[in-house]
Amino acid sequence: MNNPTLDLQGITKSYNPGAPNEVKVLRGIDLQVAPGEVVALVAPSGAGKSTLLHIAGLLDTPDTGRVGIGGEDMTGLGDRRRTAVRRSDVGFIYQFHHLLPEFTASENIVLPQLANGTGRAEAEARARDLLTQVGIEGRADHRPAALSGGEQQRVAFCRALANAPRLLLADEPTGNLDPATSDQVFGTLMALVRDTGLAALIATHNLDLAGRMDRQIRLDAGHLVPV
Ligand code: ADP
Repeated sequence: MNNPTLDLQGITKSYNPGAPNEVKVLRGIDLQVAPGEVVALVAPSGAGKSTLLHIAGLLDTPDTGRVGIGGEDMTGLGDRRRTAVRRSDVGFIYQFHHLLPEFTASENIVLPQLANGTGRAEAEARARDLLTQVGIEGRADHRPAALSGGEQQRVAFCRALANAPRLLLADEPTGNLDPATSDQVFGTLMALVRDTGLAALIATHNLDLAGRMDRQIRLDAGHLVPV
């Protein structure tokens, strides 16, 4: 694959290495995700998908192997550069929205942009645009507690895309919603991803949702296998 956005090569990761309770979670993961490609990561609970997503998103480091993002090899980079890449190039969505409760929907999308050096007026305009794209511009001034579960997750999508990342990593992004809302909110997420052309790796247990992505891979006993 030419110029993948995410390039994982030979990734291994164990917890408690050498100890009797060692857990070899990842045993040699190779994965490339191209710009504009949406890949479903299917794995039972405990298989290591959070570990893999954290390594891909520079929140954790592998024991061996290389992580490339946007053509840059992250191996051996210092914390400052890793943090900068994570902030500007990677967006995360979790099963639970993790919005800041004391801030409005708009402010939750503005804050990561300010942290990335964007001016306030531009950040507020972008927050409005993103909220419009996900169909809840009328909720911009609501705090998370005043939003439905589906609306909270839409705001979390906007926050993940606030800094126009190259790579989106999502861990069960609709896992906390009822089936009908999950279906709608997932449709919104796919439209957002398609509009921006970013590369996405989306973990899900839901095989219907996985089937709507471009490619599906399964994490099985520490290895990736096609579904
Ligand atoms: P998933 O997201 O697929 O549920 P995880 O990546 O969270 O799986 O965990 C994979 C395995 O690694 C599990 O068996 C888990 O108990 C173990 N594990 C995760 N984090 C740690 C840790 N910090 N220390 C020890 N074991 C861990």
